[in-house]
Amino acid sequence: MGGHVPASPRCAPVTAADPAAGREDAYRAPVGTHDVLPPESGRWAELVSQFARRAARFGYGLVLTPAFEHVEVFQRVGEGTDVVRKEMYEFEDKGGRRLALRPEGTAPVVRAYIQHRPTPPWKVWYLAPHFRHEKAQRGRYRQHHQLGAEVLGVDDPAVDVEVIDLAQGFLTSLGLSRFSLALNSLGDSVCRPGYLDALRDYLRAHADQLCADSQARLETNPLRVLDCKQPQCVAVIERAPQLLEHLCEPCEAHFEAVQAGLKTLGVPFEIDPRLVRGLDYYTRTTFEFASEALESAQNALGGGGRYDRLAEEMGGPPAPGIGFGIGIERVLIACDSEGVLPTPLPRLDAFVVDALGGGPGGDPEVVALLHELREAGLSADRAYGGRSLKAQTRAADRAGARYLVIVGREEMGRGAVAVRDMESGEQVEVGRSRVVSWLCEHRERLGT
Ligand SMILES: [Zn+2]
Ligand SMILES: [Zn+2]
Repeated sequence: MGGHVPASPRCAPVTAADPAAGREDAYRAPVGTHDVLPPESGRWAELVSQFARRAARFGYGLVLTPAFEHVEVFQRVGEGTDVVRKEMYEFEDKGGRRLALRPEGTAPVVRAYIQHRPTPPWKVWYLAPHFRHEKAQRGRYRQHHQLGAEVLGVDDPAVDVEVIDLAQGFLTSLGLSRFSLALNSLGDSVCRPGYLDALRDYLRAHADQLCADSQARLETNPLRVLDCKQPQCVAVIERAPQLLEHLCEPCEAHFEAVQAGLKTLGVPFEIDPRLVRGLDYYTRTTFEFASEALESAQNALGGGGRYDRLAEEMGGPPAPGIGFGIGIERVLIACDSEGVLPTPLPRLDAFVVDALGGGPGGDPEVVALLHELREAGLSADRAYGGRSLKAQTRAADRAGARYLVIVGREEMGRGAVAVRDMESGEQVEVGRSRVVSWLCEHRERLGT
């Protein structure tokens, strides 16, 4: 996508065949994947709902595309990039089709735009797993997850500002504050070719000082050399000609308008002339959010950019576009570093305790009451398997229940149940017919 978390370090060696493959325990999640379980998954739920609500406020609709596409969909992602060359999960299905698991988010959305021709501007957001056969290491997953947004059909710089604002405000809404926004323009088909010639000439003249990867990229994809973090390359890159000095007048005006828009909104940014990002289809605006709370090699929270020619290159109508992707796993590591978005504690409004001793299945009274509570909008649970009173109370405690609702024989004889406040220990008797509204009222009073 606009905004995959880049596969840094940029001059990483070609991934060799995985020697451990085939010797892995079949009943463990494959290398480079991970399970997300409660209560940790509560952070995911919170993060996704923050993003969904924010995207809806900005007028973006949810788009769902398949986890795999015809391999051609990703061909334009970059002839010269790692993504296509060596990290894509490509396979032939039983019908002989060449397919690939989604390595990034933008191309499938553009493919869907071309296929369905929605009325522009088409503003969509997504939550999707991305697949890359990367070298397994901490914080780097072969299946990772991204939240992203794309806008197709308009090249107005106001849209660039809008998507950046959408992403920036989302990160802020999680409580993150130690991150920065880098901004650049990559020009277009008018001004970039001339710049690439100048850059290639310069790099050729200094080829002997470049790392092996950069030497290989020099001819095929000189822009990516600018991305190299190897010290010997950094020294050469610092004196390289800069694209910002080669922008044509319309690109210049577009970039100025984006900067002015961000300033109007008070979104802080820094211009980084070396920000090229990993994908070949970017034009004009590119941007990246980097966390200052993470190690610099893996500090990109997400980013994206404009891809005004991608739809045409994929055989569709001319449709400028811009978007971004934010890596959920990376953002959660940043949240840990900053001490924000803690794993939510379990909590329930009520836990229904079966003191009738009805055995497994529970007394029908308990089953009915639990159903009523849930239908009334309260969170409620019970124990299973005919457990003792003590065991049921312990389960209620673990579940974070605010109230115990005890269904006992004596109380039921009086048409009532016992309600115990788990915080104060105070216990009262409430009429069976009134207990649901009693709990609703108390919940409102507690403001939960
Ligand atoms: Zn290099
Ligand atoms: Zn231009």
